[in-house]
Amino acid sequence: MKVLITGGAGFIGSHLAERHLALGDEVYIIDDLSTGSIANIQHLKLHPQFVYHIDSVTNTHLMAELVDLCDVIYHLAAAVGVRLILDSPVRTIETNIRCTEIVLSLAETKRKRVLITSTSEVYGKQDQVPFREDDDLVLGATSKSRWSYACSKAIDEFLAIAYWRERKVPTVIARLFNTVGPRQTGRYGMVIPNFVTQALTGADIRVFGDGTQSRCFTHVSDAVDALVDIAAHPGANGQVYNVGGNHEITILDLARTIRDMTGSKSRIVLVPYSTAYEEGFEDMMRRVPDISKVNRLTGYTPKVSLEQSLASIIEDQRIRLREHGVLTHA
Ligand code: UDP
Repeated sequence: MKVLITGGAGFIGSHLAERHLALGDEVYIIDDLSTGSIANIQHLKLHPQFVYHIDSVTNTHLMAELVDLCDVIYHLAAAVGVRLILDSPVRTIETNIRCTEIVLSLAETKRKRVLITSTSEVYGKQDQVPFREDDDLVLGATSKSRWSYACSKAIDEFLAIAYWRERKVPTVIARLFNTVGPRQTGRYGMVIPNFVTQALTGADIRVFGDGTQSRCFTHVSDAVDALVDIAAHPGANGQVYNVGGNHEITILDLARTIRDMTGSKSRIVLVPYSTAYEEGFEDMMRRVPDISKVNRLTGYTPKVSLEQSLASIIEDQRIRLREHGVLTHA
């Protein structure tokens, strides 16, 4: 089989590429390196079944060729990360909507199967956990940039579902919940790589708000299991699936756990949201997925515990910090 992964040099995309290569498939990726990194695919570049294009999804000539060539398209290319969204809302909205439009319209022309990755962010301020795929989405005011991300991904979902219902393009949507693992960068705001770097370097571990907000983190290998199985399932067309972990933890407990696991002497400090992000920033207090729908479809159940996830991330960060000369011991 030939698969195309947009955003294939990103954190999740590169793990998905690895998995399909291990399955014996030919993997084509396209990534403009806006948030992805060549380092993420360095180890794959010489693989005989791996082809990479450092280019944008908006290069429609190239995309048409790639879509034509491949059997399945995973659309992961997107602007992600709360920091990036607040700093670059225009880029977030335009990238997320325009690229999905291009992928879906080419998939229609070539009659190809598409998996669109979405996000738990679309549930917004919904406070009834666990979140089910058919729950209402509760978004905040348009004056708050954060919600533009949720809204742009919700439009992507509407569009993917419409392409299936109206035009019979086989599309499916995966809503990813706080996916974590080796290679994730903290540059765009994600909490675990930031806490781990802070703990390993002895810097203050900066918990935003009062730390009682909680998340369910999903190891990238579990997320990849689900993506591969959902994409392959003919019964998934036009459907939305939550893909997440089932261990809920508060951000303050996460900070304590990371400090303990690294043996760090870092202080844990509480930083108001207005300092960390911007005045009036709205966070979600709990984010817990109901994963029964994807479990019924594919048998998905998370295999990697939070402790195992953290151990793999700490190890990866230690190596990277040593390579960059930031850590000389530890
Ligand atoms: N967070 C934090 N310190 C950081 C980065 C994030 O306390 O350095 C908090 C953030 O406010 C949120 C949680 O950790 O409550 C998860 O943040 P992340 O950006 O990783 O994901 P999301 O907000 O999309 O769930």
